[in-house]
Amino acid sequence: MKKIVFVSGTRADFSKIKSLMLKIENSNEFELFIFATGMHMSKKFGLTVKEIEKCGFKNIHKFINHDKYYQMDQALSATIDGFSKFIHEIEPDLIIVHGDRIEPLAAAIVGSLNNILVAHIEGGELSGTIDESLRHAISKLAHIHLVNDETAKKRLVQMGEDKNSIFIIGSPDLELLNANYIDIKEVKKYYNIDYENYAIVIFHPVTTEFNSMKEQSEEFVNALIKSKKNYIVIYPNNDLGFESIMQSYEKLKNLKRFKIFPSLKFEYFIILLKHADFIIGNSSCILKEALYLGINGILVGSRQDARTNIKDILKTQANEKEILKLIKKPFNPKNKKHEIKALKSSEEFFRLLKDEKLFKVSKQKKFMDII
Ligand code: UDP
Repeated sequence: MKKIVFVSGTRADFSKIKSLMLKIENSNEFELFIFATGMHMSKKFGLTVKEIEKCGFKNIHKFINHDKYYQMDQALSATIDGFSKFIHEIEPDLIIVHGDRIEPLAAAIVGSLNNILVAHIEGGELSGTIDESLRHAISKLAHIHLVNDETAKKRLVQMGEDKNSIFIIGSPDLELLNANYIDIKEVKKYYNIDYENYAIVIFHPVTTEFNSMKEQSEEFVNALIKSKKNYIVIYPNNDLGFESIMQSYEKLKNLKRFKIFPSLKFEYFIILLKHADFIIGNSSCILKEALYLGINGILVGSRQDARTNIKDILKTQANEKEILKLIKKPFNPKNKKHEIKALKSSEEFFRLLKDEKLFKVSKQKKFMDII
């Protein structure tokens, strides 16, 4: 049986690769290993490795890659060290990484230096911030690219990648939006939420704006407080600057109109999002899940500036008055739902895996000039 290792460092990537992992776990042809690290292993961020365990996966290797300060460069080096030891033990046929964070970068470095095939999911996207550099660096190390669409494919070709190593599988998280989920009442009960109406807040640090993060998060939080609405607030990720945001959230702790969570289960999060009045902050899901579900979004700050579909969303700088203005402004008309192009990513992915050609992609990469 071929051994396949997935690397997961956050709820964000897990929600996107879970359906693919399940396909492998339930097959007789492949053996699945999960290397769970990063925020998954942090109590402060909700110890989300529990969500991976609850899915019943057999081989989960847990690795703590940071101390309480979570220095991104040090976590990268620790992950390289831990992952290298892990793959020498397992000797996988394929390593699969997703996205644009330091954990997939570490795994792509280890895989390529050890002559093990690396497949990268969602290369060729534009992230902004330091994530942008990390994503493209991962793509340059990966041998196989599993991308969302033609645009992403074109960008990879522009980066010198071989078009024969690029496969369009669609966006695996959007596949889950169509599923029939749990009743909202059950979700509210589970998280002890008694608001009738509410909005969702997710605000991450922008690493390249570290010096103004404190000021930005204060403006943001003050606007939320003054708006007098109910909010479900979800912790930021652990990128450089997250402490400033966490300090600003201290003000919300004793206010009834705010419920704060480190992280919500993906399936439950989607249900809450579906029933929210709007979502505010700078999470990628404002431009993805919310847009596809037709939920109004307000983007704050520059974190998503590089995304191409930003024109469909209300946007403001992290300024108290400006944010308040947008919260108070009636959303008119309601966001047009973006059509979900129903590529069944997990099926497409599994079909590729079963094709021997995939495992024959050359480990010697060549820069392909555009002629
Ligand atoms: N998400 C989740 N639970 C939460 C918050 C978010 O499952 O409590 C999912 C959400 O659907 C999105 C993904 O995690 O697809 C990433 O969102 P996040 O804002 O954490 O990260 P980003 O992609 O902006 O870096």
